[in-house]
Amino acid sequence: MANKALVYAIYPNEKQNIQCQKTFGCCRFVYNQMLTVQKERHEKREKHLSKTKANTYCNQHLKKEHPFLKEVDKFALTNAIYHLADGYDRFFKHLSRFPKYKSKHKAKKSYTTNITNGNIEIGDNSIKLPKLGWVRAKIHRRPKENWKLKSATVTQNRDDTYQVSILFAYEESISPAAVTEATTIGLDYKSDGLYISSEGDICGMPHYFRQSADKLAKAQRKLRHKTIGSKNYNKQQKRVARIHRHIANQRKDFLQKKSTEITNLYSFVCVEDLNMKAMANRGFGNGKATLDNGYGMFLTMLDYKLRDRGGQLIKVGRFFPSSQLCSHCGFKNPLVKNLSIRHWDCPNCGKTHIDRDINAAKNIKKEGLRLLTA
Ligand SMILES: [Zn+2]
Repeated sequence: MANKALVYAIYPNEKQNIQCQKTFGCCRFVYNQMLTVQKERHEKREKHLSKTKANTYCNQHLKKEHPFLKEVDKFALTNAIYHLADGYDRFFKHLSRFPKYKSKHKAKKSYTTNITNGNIEIGDNSIKLPKLGWVRAKIHRRPKENWKLKSATVTQNRDDTYQVSILFAYEESISPAAVTEATTIGLDYKSDGLYISSEGDICGMPHYFRQSADKLAKAQRKLRHKTIGSKNYNKQQKRVARIHRHIANQRKDFLQKKSTEITNLYSFVCVEDLNMKAMANRGFGNGKATLDNGYGMFLTMLDYKLRDRGGQLIKVGRFFPSSQLCSHCGFKNPLVKNLSIRHWDCPNCGKTHIDRDINAAKNIKKEGLRLLTA
């Protein structure tokens, strides 16, 4: 079974908004209460409650002492308790720090609910959720026939907008694609854009990123001139958060579009195994550009889209000399190490005016094909 989540923007009405706020609050309350219970048990040297026992505790004690908990979705509370249990698990495995109390202002406003008896449904312009009923939504994509709805996570973003992420499970049955020259492409990373392909396509950054960045800088400048904590400050902070989210969405949309374009045409995409952290730090020009253009996110998208179609993303070794080899005869020309050389002639096969970047992409494709067929 594989999982897939679809994220939808939702627009709760006033009543639904109040119910969501209540649910966020109750989840946080239950989480914090159970954290106290577990801490006290630990101090008294009593056994740590398992997640099912913690849930029983909530049903038998917390809900009696605090009847308002019965007004919200019960699965949301159970999931909050399970979330705390996962936090403890990670702590016991030394994977994360000790679970912390959730504060009203800092904690993420979010809850997860599960499906029973069709209490979650995707309509034409709305989504049905437990305790909320039908909530107006933008349905940009529909689940496939064989996807089974599992759960829904309602989140209120920092800019007060809402979204719901719906999780599906489905059986995987994908036949592998054939490895050929025509089904394979090589991409060379481009620090001031996204990539150059072995077919000579250059993918730069769309100009609207610059415009959004300017807008963000202006809004942040304005924020700095306001008194921290004042009404105007909070208002401006929301504005800044909104632009941040807008940029993140623009970037994601762009990367989705580009990765879909490629995976519609090719089943195998070969790239260099670049160390993103090292790339951001040095040697690849402007570190900010690297992080901004989200190359890592792009590769993740390519990876799952290709696998969905029976293809594969192939990473060639970090030390493969993609720029130095002549993609026609394979001759290694160490002189090309010099980054300022954009074009060169091969002294071995006589090929002239070799474009540095396209040549690198061609070599990455060759090496990827070699790895695939080895
Ligand atoms: Zn050559």
